[in-house]
Amino acid sequence: MRFLDDLSKLDMEYEMTELGEKPFRGRQLYKWMYSKGVFDFQEMTDLSKQLRQKLKQRYSFRKIEVIEKKKSQNDGSTKLLLELDDRNRIEAVILKDGERLTGCVSTQVGCRMGCSFCSTAKIGLIRNLKIGEIVRQIIIMNRILNDQDEKLSNIVFMGMGEPLDNLDNLNEAIRIILDESGLNFSHRKVTVSTCGMADELNKMYKELDSPVNLAVSLNFTDNEMRQKFMPVSKKYPVESLIATLKKLPVQKRKRITIEYVLIKDINDSWKDAKYLAEMLRGLPVKINLIVYNDSDIGFNSAAEKNVFAFQKVLQDKGFSAFIRKSLGSDIEGACGQLYARYNKKI
Ligand code: SF4
Repeated sequence: MRFLDDLSKLDMEYEMTELGEKPFRGRQLYKWMYSKGVFDFQEMTDLSKQLRQKLKQRYSFRKIEVIEKKKSQNDGSTKLLLELDDRNRIEAVILKDGERLTGCVSTQVGCRMGCSFCSTAKIGLIRNLKIGEIVRQIIIMNRILNDQDEKLSNIVFMGMGEPLDNLDNLNEAIRIILDESGLNFSHRKVTVSTCGMADELNKMYKELDSPVNLAVSLNFTDNEMRQKFMPVSKKYPVESLIATLKKLPVQKRKRITIEYVLIKDINDSWKDAKYLAEMLRGLPVKINLIVYNDSDIGFNSAAEKNVFAFQKVLQDKGFSAFIRKSLGSDIEGACGQLYARYNKKI
């Protein structure tokens, strides 16, 4: 039995020709799945009963079920714990920021990047998510929002996992998300967030027709420090990462978002802010300063006065620097925390 949602649109067309059908049947299936959110052959009523039967004998869809839903009392964000076929669990979060509803999507079960301030890192990498498992998180979030006459306005790949470590499936998922006969999002509304896999970044920009937005989780300016907290820096030192960013074919009017999570007494001094400004000089960026959610893995939120001082240094140097609320902080908003707690419980 094959899972249809592991396939790209082109592969679905090919599969149908293998079945003795016309390629457009593949496009019909694709539309049912990603435009209408239907993952049951019986409901695909423009396919003959005979064909539906044939499909049922050969193919299936991956299971992805909501097993826990937590809504933040502070800001209305909703965190979902989802269970997959193999009983692995991932998270997806609907982040509510005023009118804007952003779907935060996972790309892996766990992560192998090993960032020491991150709960997901403690899990390690269990496996990459398949194409459909990535896209269906968005369909599930939209289904939940639909009950309130709302829908996601933005997508960010910032859930569990390093998106660029699952590049082929990520790119295919993005194609479906942007496709008019798929989820039909504008490329301006989709952001990939990376810890800094420079080679894969180049590859992503080469392979995608529509450039999506980019966010880089930088967090440290000093290489030694970054290597200590974010081991990806051993392969891609800060300087080479910044050099890669400078050469990326980022579209005019699109700025790279630099994410900087402020952790108490680790990277929140005015000196760090000064180095950051020097490092980013000449790059089209905006900087998001994110106050770390207190966690049970030994790190704490930066003090408010340090956060404002940090922002001021950057603004004085001419950068757009924004302090971002920690959305969903009362629902274990840092990535991986809900998963970690759930696994402790069982
Ligand atoms: S912060 Fe992101 S890249 Fe780093 S370990 Fe966590 S999920 Fe992976």
